[in-house]
Amino acid sequence: MKVQRFLARDRFPSLLARLEEAGYDVIGPQVRDHAIVFDALASVEALPRGITDDQAPGRYRLAASSSDRYFDWATGPQALKPLTFAPRETLWTSETRDDGTLVFRERLPEARPTAVIGVRACDLAALAIHDRHFLHGAAPDPHYRARRENLFLVAVNCARSAATCFCTATGDGPRVTHGHDLALGELDDGFVVEAHTDRGRELLATLDTSEATAEALAEVEAGLARAADQQHRRLPAGSLPEQLQAAVAHPHWQDLDDRCLTCGNCTAVCPTCFCQTHVDAISLDGREASHVRQWETCFNPDHSYIHGTVIRAERPQRYRQWLTHKFGTWVAQYGRSGCVGCGRCIAWCPVGIDVTEELAALSQAPTNAPDEAPAPTPGRVPGTVPSKAQGQAPAPNRREGKDD
Ligand code: SF4
Ligand code: SF4
Repeated sequence: MKVQRFLARDRFPSLLARLEEAGYDVIGPQVRDHAIVFDALASVEALPRGITDDQAPGRYRLAASSSDRYFDWATGPQALKPLTFAPRETLWTSETRDDGTLVFRERLPEARPTAVIGVRACDLAALAIHDRHFLHGAAPDPHYRARRENLFLVAVNCARSAATCFCTATGDGPRVTHGHDLALGELDDGFVVEAHTDRGRELLATLDTSEATAEALAEVEAGLARAADQQHRRLPAGSLPEQLQAAVAHPHWQDLDDRCLTCGNCTAVCPTCFCQTHVDAISLDGREASHVRQWETCFNPDHSYIHGTVIRAERPQRYRQWLTHKFGTWVAQYGRSGCVGCGRCIAWCPVGIDVTEELAALSQAPTNAPDEAPAPTPGRVPGTVPSKAQGQAPAPNRREGKDD
């Protein structure tokens, strides 16, 4: 049953207090280094009150808001990804004993109950995608699970969109519909609080709330409509997997060679990207080793290094891999595209490459004939180089453990 109550602004601190009393570490959005990021939240005073964001391709700036609200901004560079899929963590260690036997020890994180305030609809959609990948595949990830099962999520319905947002085009926002415990709709004088789970209802019952009036509910709806209306980026009509498959030799990929720096920023900020690499760090005496997993990007040529060959040696191939996986083959893998329309990859791309514009160009028939497309280098398979780093074998402590 849907429970909606009104929490006056001066009682908002009690939400943090109740979460802490319930045993949660509370995380919330805060300004750090000129960006809004999630961090441990000591009080509501640390929230980005009266601050908004100005986003465009290659641009992210904070500015004073015309309102005194806490959540008058769209997205920061992070979603929930770093809280569940750690940027770097040890998965297991090994030790060689004096008798020569090897002992392996699993290293699970000591995850604490954590409440996150300020999660957006697109963040929840990305979390659902990661749940599918990390929890519901053939080999569920215990590290992800340990953190994920400890989350209590307080979401916020968006009342404004950044210029880079396109969650209406992917169907993931701006309304919070699933995956949360509580959802807030912020008004000038307080919040409409909606409980979505039993534990959300239990926590809501401990707050000093009043009935949510029809006017308050209508204002939340008006904010959602405004946020949707502010979005102008669209995705091409029709089947993107089919269009991308048909565009595999499209000359537009070569156009990206002049623009994409292959820096990997887009994959770092993307809430659904989960590429990873595994590295074994071995002690000097060779008796102990730590097996470490860290975020990787498909824009790194090493990521496609397989047995003497970099599969995607050239920059357009790596952009093509990212885009065709995200919007094309992801659908066959997970039943939906890997994009939730958050727009982070657009804002945080240093040269302002915009996925929606690239997809629009790729969905058009090429202007030059196929036989005018760039010819592969003679003497080798298109898109491969003989070996990594002038033919050197990979470093001995590097295992080829990649995932994309
Ligand atoms: S698209 Fe932009 S952010 Fe992504 S790798 Fe290329 S230059 Fe970097
Ligand atoms: S591809 Fe870009 S817009 Fe889509 S979810 Fe990733 S960062 Fe957000």
